[in-house]
Parts: sequence; C-alpha cells; structure tokens
Amino acid sequence: MHLNEKKTVKEMKKISIIGSTGSIGTQTLEVARVNKDIEVVALAAGKNIKLLYDEALEFRPRLLSVGDESLAQEIKEMLKSVPDYSPEVMYGMDGLKAVATADEAKTVVTAIVGMIGLEPTVAAINAGKDIALANKETLVTAGSIVMSLAKEKGVRILPVDSEHSAIFQSLQGNKDNPVSRILLTASGGPFRGKKREELVSVTVEEALKHPNWSMGPKITIDSASLVNKGLEVIEAKWLFDVKPEQIEVLIQPQSIIHSAVEYEDGAIIAQLGTPDMKLPIQYALYYPERRFLPGERLDFTKIKSIEIDKPDRDTFKGLDFAFNALRTGGTMPAVFNAANEYAVARFLEGKIKFLEIYDLIDYAMNTAEIISNPTVEDIVNVMPMTIEMLRKKG
Ligand code: NDP
Repeated sequence: MHLNEKKTVKEMKKISIIGSTGSIGTQTLEVARVNKDIEVVALAAGKNIKLLYDEALEFRPRLLSVGDESLAQEIKEMLKSVPDYSPEVMYGMDGLKAVATADEAKTVVTAIVGMIGLEPTVAAINAGKDIALANKETLVTAGSIVMSLAKEKGVRILPVDSEHSAIFQSLQGNKDNPVSRILLTASGGPFRGKKREELVSVTVEEALKHPNWSMGPKITIDSASLVNKGLEVIEAKWLFDVKPEQIEVLIQPQSIIHSAVEYEDGAIIAQLGTPDMKLPIQYALYYPERRFLPGERLDFTKIKSIEIDKPDRDTFKGLDFAFNALRTGGTMPAVFNAANEYAVARFLEGKIKFLEIYDLIDYAMNTAEIISNPTVEDIVNVMPMTIEMLRKKG
C-alpha cells in the first residue's frame, strides 16, 4: 500500500443503545448517521415507541426493547406492515439486559436515565462489552462494584458525560503522571446567583431552562439544584480513582471549559469547546481516534473573558450531599441518588416545590439504614425502599 493511501475498508462499529429515544440516545444515533460506519444492532427505549419505530426503520437493529408488554405489542403491530424487517421485540428489564448483551455489539451506549441503568450495564460488562457511559447513576450507586468488574472483565468504561470526557481527554498521554486535582466545571444552571429565598417558588418551567445545554428533564433539574454536579463528583471519583478531596468544583457559566486536570508540576490541562454532546459521544465511540464533527467551533476572538466562580454550597445543597455520601460510602450514594430521582419526578409532576428536593434527600440520607459492602442486589433494592420511606413521610 502507498504511504498516503488511506485504508478504505473499515470495519463496522457495532453498538447497542439503551435509552435510544432520549437526548443522549438520539444524539448517538446522529453520530452514527453522520459517520456511516456504525452498525446499530439493538435499541431499547421506554415509552416513546413512535420515535423508536422511526429509529428502527432507519437503522434496522435486529433487537428492540420497550418499557412494558403492551408497548411491545403495539410496536410489533406497527412493524407488521414493514417489508423485509422483523426484529425481535422484548420489554422491561429482560429486554434492557438483552439489548445490553446483544451478541454482535462491541460497545453499549448507556443513555438511559436513572439507576434502572445499573443492572443492564452490569450485564453488559459481564458479557465483555465496552461501555460508553452516559448513565452516571450507574457509577454513583455502584461505582466500586462496576469499576472492579470492568477491570476483571477487561472492558473499558468510556465516559460520555461532557465533564468526564473532558477529564479523560486531559489525561491522555499522562498515564504515569499522578493527578493532583480534578477541576470539575459546572455552568451553575438557571438559578446561578440566586439565594434560598428566591428559590422558594420557582416553577418547573423556570428550572427546565438550562442556559447552555439541551438535555433530558431529569438531568436539567439536577443541574438547577447542583445535584447533577454532586452526582458527577461521585462519578469522577470512581472513573478516575481519585480521593473526593482531590475534586474541586468550579462554576464556569459559559460552559467553555468542560473540565480540567491539574498535575503535580502545577500544569493544568483542560478540554474546551462549544457545548455539544455529540463530541464526547463520538470520542467515546471512536476512542482514541478523533473524527471530523460538524458544528460550531469555539472562536476565542469572540470571548472577552472566561468567568470562573466558586459554587454557592449554602444555597445549592447538591454538592454537600455528594461529599457526605462519599464519606459514608456503602449504600449511601445510592440512597442520595434514589431520593433525588424520586424528588425530581415529584417536582416535575408539580407535586412538590423545588427546595423540597433537598428536604427529601436530606430526610432519606438521615433515615436510611446503610449497608457497608453492598451487592448489586442490595443497591437495586435501595430504590423501592427509599421510595417507600419517602411516601410514608408524606
Ligand atoms: P432523557 O430523559 O432524554 O432520555 C432517557 C432515555 O431513557 C429515553 O430513551 C427513555 O425512553 C429511556 N428510559 C427511561 N426510563 C426507561 C425505562 N424504565 N425503560 C427503558 N427505557 C427507559 O435523558 P438524557 O438523555 O438527558 O440522559 C440520559 C443519561 O445520560 C442520564 O443518566 C443523564 O444523567 C446522562 N447525561 C445526559 C446528558 C445530556 O446532555 N442529556 C449529559 C451527560 C449525562 P422513553 O423516552 O422512550 O420513555
């Protein structure tokens, strides 16, 4: 082969996606659409079968999964009239696990929201799949188990979360250089600068207005409460094997610096760019290769200053909860996460006020019985137990 001749025959990258109809899922499919060398072998969604049907028709995966049996029947009916295509349709946890372990897939994109993502991710790791991990709840609730299982099975956990991808990118070429600090950036969300009194009666609509990122509803509320950054602190601790005190959260309202790593000599290496989740998704799918990504570029000549601030931890309790959960360990991070999932769902339904999210998490973390060395089953049980506890509280 001539030196300049490019290899023309590229192997197809085979992936499965759990949560294909959400913000990360649809952007993953956009990356697949543009790159043309990704084969989607299995897709799982929850309720949005109309979108799943469209995705299935375009990408022709051989396996689909939906939230429950009646949705499975519905999508099967819809697919009956499609010529030359009859995928297997499954549902519920069995379906999620089947998608996560689909034979042909090399990588599983965990784009599902919530700690329901834990069991399929564990199944995927056991099946030897690399994980492109967006579902941070997996590492928050079971980081120790998941990271050691991944090591044992020789699979890679490739971060999709933009901050963790930025850290991962900043670590490249520094395998033998110890990290002094991780600088985890946060936009501060829609309520940045507000004090507790001003948050008393904020509406769902206001909380859903993220200044920089367009994301699913749960993570958008988590960004407004800074619980998202708390979850990300725990995620970073497990992904990068650092001590909690090595992680510093900084408010960077423009979301230009996506996060950084400080080394022993004081050098700080960061990844910067416009806010576009397709970059970390594509990086995780093709790591270590970088590919062209269509979209806006960061223009330094248009940026007058890069603002950086400390988080207001008195008003936004999300960070304190996370550091406390890490300190306690065991099932405490899962309790923190479960209480937050319950509280955010209640807030989105208009049943509780914004600040009550903190009250519910606080109550759960002070009331739950903690298991020190939990199994995956113990962690999965935290969700129903926490919901029951919080329902009883009223
Ligand atoms: P969305 O709410 O947009 O999407 C969630 C996906 O999960 C949907 O496909 C949904 O299906 C599916 N889902 C939810 N519940 C179930 C269920 N019980 N069974 C099967 N599928 C289910 O979330 P995001 O894409 O915003 O977030 C996904 C994950 O990625 C979260 O963990 C989030 O923290 C993380 N993340 C997201 C970022 C973003 O920019 N959005 C950035 C960084 C991390 P359906 O809609 O069909 O019901």
